[in-house]
Amino acid sequence: MGRISRICILGGGTAGWMSAAALSRKFKGLDLEITLVESDQIGTVGVGEATLPHIRLFNQALGIDEQNFMKSTEATFKLGIQFCDWGRLGDHYIHPFGDYGLPLDDLDFHQFWLRSRQGGNKVRLSDYSYPVLAAEKGRFRIPEGDVNTIGSNFGYAYQFDASLYARFLRSYSEENGTRRVEGRVNDVELDGETGAVRSVTLESGAKIEADLFVDCSGFRGLLIEQALETGYEDWSHWLPCNRAIAVPCESRGELLPYTRATARTAGWQWRIPLQHRTGNGHVYWNEFISDDEATSQLMSSLEGPSLADPKQLFFKTGRRKKFWNRNVVSIGLSAGFLEPLESTSIHLIQEGITALVELFPIDAIEAQDIAEYNDRMALNFERVRDFLLLHYVATQRDDSEMWRYFRSMELPDSLQEKISAWTARGYVLKYEFGTFLPPSWVAVMLGQNLVPESHDPRVDRYDMTTMMERLERIRMETAQAVAATPSQAEFLQQYGAAS
Ligand code: FAD
Repeated sequence: MGRISRICILGGGTAGWMSAAALSRKFKGLDLEITLVESDQIGTVGVGEATLPHIRLFNQALGIDEQNFMKSTEATFKLGIQFCDWGRLGDHYIHPFGDYGLPLDDLDFHQFWLRSRQGGNKVRLSDYSYPVLAAEKGRFRIPEGDVNTIGSNFGYAYQFDASLYARFLRSYSEENGTRRVEGRVNDVELDGETGAVRSVTLESGAKIEADLFVDCSGFRGLLIEQALETGYEDWSHWLPCNRAIAVPCESRGELLPYTRATARTAGWQWRIPLQHRTGNGHVYWNEFISDDEATSQLMSSLEGPSLADPKQLFFKTGRRKKFWNRNVVSIGLSAGFLEPLESTSIHLIQEGITALVELFPIDAIEAQDIAEYNDRMALNFERVRDFLLLHYVATQRDDSEMWRYFRSMELPDSLQEKISAWTARGYVLKYEFGTFLPPSWVAVMLGQNLVPESHDPRVDRYDMTTMMERLERIRMETAQAVAATPSQAEFLQQYGAAS
């Protein structure tokens, strides 16, 4: 196969329009023809509201103005996720996007905190985290200045309406030369010799030929699976939740800068505050709860009147055996699915696009680029899988069949090693690849009562009194920085991002 001059993106959900936006911007002037096909009749999955801080880099790379984007997508700021009832019923903690305290001499702050407990320190590790304290008080401001100072050592993400984001990126992509074609694809033609996709044909009879296809057709994986039969690696024995009910409702109370994930008997429930409404959903394992019961648990816990009928979604956790097969790159739900417990799906779309841009086969599709892409994406998916699984296995709950299932589970080696290193001395083994940095692992492990037996012996060389004074100084400075922070609602107005 020769030079790539025509790209066809199949699907106009979040994955399709993010791909179109990035490719049309990055390869502007390279004589690439980009066509996106989508079908209003089929529609999009219509959920997906919480994100990770990395999305800011994506928007910045496209030159998107933050205030305009936030107004257009009804976005709120997100400092982390609050997990309720995961370790034990009644427990709650926040996984923040940021560091705890400040490191010293290359030693992580949490190591000093672990030792300080021997000196009688009863303060939570969270009390040394600006994003946790700001989130708990409903406050927000953008970090400014040196990232190594208290009050600035954090990141933030957004909670937004993903359908509005796709619409926003559609205008952006069309302005950058992407051609949109409306219609339902009902036939895919393969090259008899290479087995690659040659063209897709719409119901209208129109045929679209391309050199490279980006499959963003959602769970159905129209090209990667239905046409190329790539295969799926099923991970439901690790992450068995397989259904969800989603429903938006009217907002009540303060506009909180965090997503909430509350553990349930056979799954968990999300709450995502946007400017104009609150998104809610119940992710569950249908083996242990009926659809009716899952719906009624969700509906009875809404904070305000629902704004639509509940929508049911079906999925199987796992990933495509090859994300890139022949001349088809799958991005989004067509590539795989991991439940939205840590808001990772849109992030995995971003990772797929970033890798595709880096390895883009301008001159020809090379086997080593495909292999590199597949290795990278496989690692990305595996790392996220391990992190999600941690939430289910680092628990003391045994009050339902689902929790008992997780208590007796054999873990992937990669996760078992991570947990063992942590429980021995509070080490967080670093992955070669991975979305979640050590503070995220610390947040979940400690938040779910996995307390290390000891600490890094290198902190023993510090004098206990001086160390405790330093910790207290950091705690006070953190509290002062939070006290000087406006509420998220005030900040949205001041910043010009309120819709
Ligand atoms: P879709 O939105 O399904 O889009 C598929 C596109 O393909 C549509 O445009 C459709 O018209 C088109 N198409 C399909 N077949 C054809 C055809 N034959 N002809 C023409 N066009 C066709 N992600 C997060 O990051 N955060 C979250 O909080 C989050 N929550 C989620 C909750 C649930 C319950 C689920 C299921 C997912 C969640 N996600 C979340 C994931 C997120 O919704 C998706 O990753 C994201 O929306 C991308 O979807 P997509 O574009 O791959 O697919």
